Amino acid sequence: MSEKEKYDFALVGAGVMSATLATLLKIAKPNSKIIIFERLPQVSMESSDAWNNAGTGHAALCELNYMPDSKDGSLPDPKKAIAINEQFQMSRAFWAYCIEQGILSDPASFIRTVPHMSFVTTDKDIDYLSRRHKVLADQPLFEGMEYSTSTKQISQWAPLIMDGRAPGNVAATWIEQGTDVDYGEMTRQLINWLKSKKVSVETNVEVKRLYQFPSGSWQIFLGTSSNRLIEADRVFVGAGGWALKLLQSAKIPQIKGYGTFPVSGHFLRTDNPEIVARHNAKVYSQAPVGAPPMSVPHLDKRVVNGKESLLFGPFAGINPKFLKHGSLLDLPLSIRQHNLLPYLSVAIQNFDLLKYLIREITKSKKQKISQLKEFVPSAQAKDWVYYEAGQRAQIIKPVGRKGILQFGTEVIASTDGTISGLLGASPGASVSVAIMMEVVEKMLGQSVVGQLKERVPGMMGNLNSDSIAAKKNLRSTAKILKLKA
Ligand SMILES: Cc1cc2nc3c(=O)[nH]c(=O)nc-3n(C[C@H](O)[C@H](O)[C@H](O)COP(=O)(O)OP(=O)(O)OC[C@H]3O[C@@H](n4cnc5c(N)ncnc54)[C@H](O)[C@@H]3O)c2cc1C
Repeated sequence: MSEKEKYDFALVGAGVMSATLATLLKIAKPNSKIIIFERLPQVSMESSDAWNNAGTGHAALCELNYMPDSKDGSLPDPKKAIAINEQFQMSRAFWAYCIEQGILSDPASFIRTVPHMSFVTTDKDIDYLSRRHKVLADQPLFEGMEYSTSTKQISQWAPLIMDGRAPGNVAATWIEQGTDVDYGEMTRQLINWLKSKKVSVETNVEVKRLYQFPSGSWQIFLGTSSNRLIEADRVFVGAGGWALKLLQSAKIPQIKGYGTFPVSGHFLRTDNPEIVARHNAKVYSQAPVGAPPMSVPHLDKRVVNGKESLLFGPFAGINPKFLKHGSLLDLPLSIRQHNLLPYLSVAIQNFDLLKYLIREITKSKKQKISQLKEFVPSAQAKDWVYYEAGQRAQIIKPVGRKGILQFGTEVIASTDGTISGLLGASPGASVSVAIMMEVVEKMLGQSVVGQLKERVPGMMGNLNSDSIAAKKNLRSTAKILKLKA
């Protein structure tokens, strides 16, 4: 019989969420014993890997779905956009702190300024964009947002989009402070620092099941071939799409009725230096009618390992795997008596979405290039390769006996705070710090959150309501992260 291993915290999965949480825990409780399990050979190989996501620092600077239009043509409500931006500022503040403390290395290795632009072409969208700009331009965290309907101006901002474009109405907003982030590299750096602080990080180890002892602590089962006895006081399930099945195995009542709806993401990518040189922005437009919010088409400058590329997409598809390296049985095996009705009702309510996804997967490369040409009229198929990015496991949330499809993230936690896990995928890695602070609160209470906020400058939250603090914060984090203010 092997000796019992006892930890204060066990984290399942080594993506950006677990890496961020473990770092926060190590800062708050330096002497705590932490273990991280990762089923793949290296950390950050799922959604957090640079090429498995789009690398956008989501701050609602350009993503129109974060600020839906009003029903009556009045000024749209900026509440959600401001909240996302404030969460992103928490990430910036934390990353800046990590640079100063030597936890993260050179900022250019994982974050850089790439302006964010919204671009629309129909009269309805142009009217909406001008009203959106009117509201946001006055908000402290959106300082410097410009609006234009001039083809000359938009050509200067994003020449590739205007080259060869047929005459017609266009409008765009442009804001310099946008970012491109390599979340995979950031995760690796955080994990390396954690290892240097004696956090155990075990790769090629899959957690199969979680069991709560009557004392409240948790046993971590690694499958039948392992005879290790691992016990942890607190567990975080940062297993990406597999969080659902592990939380189900933990049998906490809070997971009852939940399901997961997986949507695969694909992109077109070019590394052709002549094309890449003509585009230095992340340009987001409107989602086609019937398309889910994460299908908003965008053309992005990416910098990964110091090399510049462009990506366009995403092209969505149906795939029952909950992780890119998951199993085709993930979806069927997640169905329980308690979530059967939510699953069925989501399928019925979202029939248009299912039709859209089926249409997407049956599109030929030629059709995908035609879609790209709506953004980049001069695009040629030979310059672009099509590739598979990560899986997004969207939340099916129980409401009464039915379910709704929720395009956000949600922390599911037991009432005793000993276990929590993360479902969902949006706005994702950009707001990892705000989400993991929520997990810290569930695990350790408000006082530890307060201590962390005191220690890390700029993590206070509702920054937009204080224009002086907002400006100060934007400037100071930009300086440390070597970004344009
Ligand atoms: C196509 C696409 C585009 C996106 N674009 C953006 C973007 O532009 N900006 C943004 O901010 N976010 C974006 N996101 C979302 C973002 O990538 C995710 O929110 C984020 O990476 C999730 O991090 P995570 O740590 O929760 O999950 P992951 O990175 O998926 O990590 C989970 C880890 O858990 C491991 N694991 C799972 N089960 C087990 C187990 N049983 N035992 C041990 N290990 C296990 C997995 O192998 C994996 O390494 C995008 C996502 C996708 C799919």
